[in-house]
Amino acid sequence: MLAAELRLHDVRVLVLEKETEPPSFVRIVGLHSRSLELMAMRGLLERIREHGRQRPAGGFFAAIPAPAPPGLDSAYAYLLGIPQPVIVRLLEDHAVALGAQVRHGCAVAGLAQDSDGVTVELADGERLRSRYLVGCDGGRSTVRKLLGVGFPGEPSRVETLMGEMEVGVPPEEIAAAVTAVRETEHRFWLRPFGAGVYSVVVPAAGVGERGKPPTLEDFRRQLRAIAGTDFGVHSPRWLSRFGDATRLAERYRVGRVLLAGDAAHIHPPIGGQGLNLGVQDAVNLGWKLAAQVRGWAPGTLLDTYQAERQPVAADVLDNTRAQMELLSPEPGPQAVRRLLTELMDFDEVNRHLTEKVTATGVRYDIGEGPDLLGRRLRDIEVKQGHLYGLLHRGRGLLLDRTERLTVGGWSDRVDYLGDPTAALDVPCVLLRPDGHVAWIGDDQQDLDDHLSRWFGRPS
Ligand SMILES: Cc1cc2nc3c(=O)[nH]c(=O)nc-3n(C[C@H](O)[C@H](O)[C@H](O)COP(=O)(O)OP(=O)(O)OC[C@H]3O[C@@H](n4cnc5c(N)ncnc54)[C@H](O)[C@@H]3O)c2cc1C
Repeated sequence: MLAAELRLHDVRVLVLEKETEPPSFVRIVGLHSRSLELMAMRGLLERIREHGRQRPAGGFFAAIPAPAPPGLDSAYAYLLGIPQPVIVRLLEDHAVALGAQVRHGCAVAGLAQDSDGVTVELADGERLRSRYLVGCDGGRSTVRKLLGVGFPGEPSRVETLMGEMEVGVPPEEIAAAVTAVRETEHRFWLRPFGAGVYSVVVPAAGVGERGKPPTLEDFRRQLRAIAGTDFGVHSPRWLSRFGDATRLAERYRVGRVLLAGDAAHIHPPIGGQGLNLGVQDAVNLGWKLAAQVRGWAPGTLLDTYQAERQPVAADVLDNTRAQMELLSPEPGPQAVRRLLTELMDFDEVNRHLTEKVTATGVRYDIGEGPDLLGRRLRDIEVKQGHLYGLLHRGRGLLLDRTERLTVGGWSDRVDYLGDPTAALDVPCVLLRPDGHVAWIGDDQQDLDDHLSRWFGRPS
């Protein structure tokens, strides 16, 4: 996603991926509203939707079965389930189509930076030189370790087994057992996955060795311990385990090297937020890093990446910590869960938690002003169609209901739309390339100040 964002601004990009093949396990990830909005903003949503399955929004927080609250503020108020290797391939195709280069089988092993750029050493000894480097290399990020950036937080305390396998008992028997067990154990399911295969999730006996996959016998033992039967599971397609380690990088930037995605933050998968968070990091960072490379970035623009995104990640870490507590079968957490289930009947509570998990409630702290300032603008209808259709090129956009203002010397970075729509209840809005509101007002001088703040000097 980041490679594609950079290509929108004609920055030369090389992606280094250590693996030659996609992973053998096919985890279905959920794309939430904000990520769907970002896909729509870049003209990708139709393509992605073809490969996914839509599910109604709601029931995201700790899997408490509450329907979505009424009037969610998004044109994309649903969840799209999509296999992770498919979304990775679609994003890679998108980046390559825009001109990014991708090299598979290249592991970053060393780096050194100076005042002009970064030298990267690959595992085979090859050296590459670039002006910037972004470590999007996952929770065990080599780049983060090479930078010496701390990754404080909590280690895994609870692990869960997850895999796909065949079963030896009829579907009705499975459904009845699953319903009974899930009364108290929420980290448990057996779901049909097509062609006689079931997706199986069950708590692990303890915290396993890092990187060591579980065996089928581990699944059998845990199924017996928790459900009283192993359902005759056999013929696994893949088996994995995941934990609830929760950590946040101390810094997102050291000089010319930055971190994004799981390299910057890890947390349990409850609520399905990790990949979404990484995609949103990428869209926040892409235009800022491009501006830096192209030479028009105002002095502190690149640092706003950490200032804006680290608090968002900290909030996700906290909400997953809270959700994990609510999954505990202990009587105390179960009582809190029952109470929260009651509170979910209040639309405001439900909406607050739904906006948290879907990231539509994110508001960057970019100064005093109306509530919309710093938030993303939903995909409103404009006279040319949909707003997001005007953001495909990753440029800024001025929506001007007064038709008196101009983007003047910034017109090579910022588009202009006069008399956009009656749906906008403020005179003018300046949108950043990531769709967040950077300014609201009706005064040209004030607008020019804000154009300078976000888009540098006029050309
Ligand atoms: C069970 C489970 C369910 C989940 N469900 C969801 C969900 O529904 N929704 C959601 O949003 N998230 C979900 N997640 C989280 C999501 O999978 C991760 O947050 C996401 O994969 C992070 O993406 P990333 O690109 O930052 O890191 P990764 O996916 O880890 O990718 C890092 C890449 O870097 C490569 N790499 C590593 N080291 C090097 C190196 N030295 N040199 C070159 N390349 C390197 C790796 O090979 C890998 O391809 C789930 C996670 C789990 C475990």
